[in-house]
Amino acid sequence: MPTYEYECIKCGLRFEKQQSIKDESLKECPECHGDVKKIISGGGGFILKSAGAGNSASAKSCSLETTGRTCCGATSRCGKPACGD
Ligand SMILES: [Zn+2]
Repeated sequence: MPTYEYECIKCGLRFEKQQSIKDESLKECPECHGDVKKIISGGGGFILKSAGAGNSASAKSCSLETTGRTCCGATSRCGKPACGD
């Protein structure tokens, strides 16, 4: 289940909440009951791959043979999908 991060507009409280994708966003701060906004951090590894323009990037192949480094900067194959084939 993904964890969403929220910030209270009123008191500045930041908190995290585990929610299903199907759940509605929180709207109220647990401390002051002010309005909260969802923070899109992108740091949790929760990336929507179907979000449009990313399709060409995911098709890039591993460049180890030509540059000595893989697409992720390692000097050997890392086994991630882009390097796997
Ligand atoms: Zn608050």
